[in-house]
Amino acid sequence: MDFALTEIQEMIRDTARQIGEEIILPNRARWDEEETFPTEALDALAKSDMMGVYIPEEYGGMGGGALDLCIAVEELSKFCGSVAVSYAANALGAFPILLHGTEEHKQKYMPKLATGEYYAAFGLTEPNAGSDAGSVETTAVRDGEEYVINGTKQWITNAGEAHVYTVIASTNRKRGARGLSAIIVDKDTPGFDFGAKEKKMGIRSSITRELHFQDCRVPVSHLLYKENRGFRVAMDTLDKSRPGIGAQALGIADGALKEAAEFAQNRVQFGQPVTAFQAVQHMMADMAIAIEASRWLVYRSAVAVDNDEPGASAIAAMAKVFASDTAMKVTTDAVQVCGGSGYMREYPLEKRMRDAKITQIYEGTNQIQRNIIALDLIRRTARKS
Ligand SMILES: Cc1cc2nc3c(=O)[nH]c(=O)nc-3n(C[C@H](O)[C@H](O)[C@H](O)COP(=O)(O)OP(=O)(O)OC[C@H]3O[C@@H](n4cnc5c(N)ncnc54)[C@H](O)[C@@H]3O)c2cc1C
Repeated sequence: MDFALTEIQEMIRDTARQIGEEIILPNRARWDEEETFPTEALDALAKSDMMGVYIPEEYGGMGGGALDLCIAVEELSKFCGSVAVSYAANALGAFPILLHGTEEHKQKYMPKLATGEYYAAFGLTEPNAGSDAGSVETTAVRDGEEYVINGTKQWITNAGEAHVYTVIASTNRKRGARGLSAIIVDKDTPGFDFGAKEKKMGIRSSITRELHFQDCRVPVSHLLYKENRGFRVAMDTLDKSRPGIGAQALGIADGALKEAAEFAQNRVQFGQPVTAFQAVQHMMADMAIAIEASRWLVYRSAVAVDNDEPGASAIAAMAKVFASDTAMKVTTDAVQVCGGSGYMREYPLEKRMRDAKITQIYEGTNQIQRNIIALDLIRRTARKS
C-alpha cells in the first residue's frame, strides 16, 4: 500500500498550511473568544480553489475524493479545529447531492460550492433524534408538486451561513427510518429560518444553530434519490464524510504535540528543559505513536471509502473512533506536559483540548461507531459460517 501524496495532494496540503500560518494562526484565539465565523479563512480557501477538492472537475472542482478532503482538513486542524469543521461541513452538506442527486441538482449546486460562492449544511439531528437518527420527526408532506416541511433540526453546523441544506424529513411517519426522504432546501425559502447561535465548549467559531421549518414549501424536484429512501442517503453521506472527522481529530492532535514539544523544550525546571525528564519524554513518545497510527488509519479509511471497498463503512468508523480517542488523550497530555501554562487561555493547548472533545461525539458518537464495527464483524462471521 502506498500513501505517497500526489502532486495535487501536496499542493492541497501546502495551500492549507500557508493559509493556516498566515490567516488562521494570528486570528484563531480571537475567533474562539468572540465565537466569530472564520469568514476570512474560508474566503482565502475559496480564492485558492480549496473548496472543491472533493468535487469532480466537470463541476468545477479539483476532482479528488475523501482522501484529498482529509489532507486539507488534517492540515487546517493543525491550526484550528473550528476552521476545519466549518470547511468540512460544506462537504457533509454536498455529499448527499454528489452521491444521490440528479444531473440537474449537481449542475445547479456543485459549481457554486466548488468556488465557495455557496456553503452547504447537512440537517439530520433533531431534539428527539440524535444517535437514533431514524426517528426523525420533521415531516415533508406532499401537496401537488411541492413538499410542505414542518419541524426542527438541532445543532446543525454552518446553519445560517450555508446557502444550501440537505435535510432529512419523514415522508411516511408509519414507516420510521424507511419513511425518511432527503430533500434540498435553499436558504431563502419562505418558512425556513434559524435558531440562535449555540454556545459551545469547543470549536466555538464554528457556527451551530437549529433549523426551523414552518409550512416551508419545496418543489418535489428537490428530492434526492427516491422518496422514503432518505435514511440510505444519510448513511451513505456519513460513511463518506467520516474519515474527515478522523482527519480533524488527527490534525488537532498533531498540532497539540508540536505546540507542547516547543513549549516543553523552552521550559526550564530543576536547571534543565522539562523535555530532559523521561516521564515527559515518554508521554510525548506515546503521543507521537498514537498520532502516526491515526494518520495511517485515517488515510486507509479514506482510500477504502473512495474505492467503495466492502467494509469501508466499518473502516471509516474505526478511523473516526481511533483518531478522536487519540485526539482527546493527546490534547489532555499536551496540557499536562505544559503544566499550568497548558491550562491557561493565553496558550493554545486548552483550546485544543476543548476542540478535540467534539470529534468523539458528532457524525455518530464513538459508541455508535463501535456498534457499526461490531455489526460488520458479526455479519462477516455469519457469512463465513
Ligand atoms: C457541535 C455539534 C455540531 C453538530 N453538527 C451536526 C450537523 O451539522 N448535522 C447534523 O445532522 N447533526 C449535527 N450534530 C449532531 C450530532 O451528530 C449528534 O449530537 C450525535 O449524533 C449524538 O446525538 P445526541 O447528541 O443526541 O446524543 P444521544 O443520542 O442522546 O446519546 C447520548 C449518549 O448515549 C449513547 N448512546 C445512544 N444510543 C446508543 C446506542 N444504541 N448504543 C450505545 N450508546 C448509545 C451515546 O453514545 C451518548 O454517549 C452536531 C452536534 C454538535 C454537538
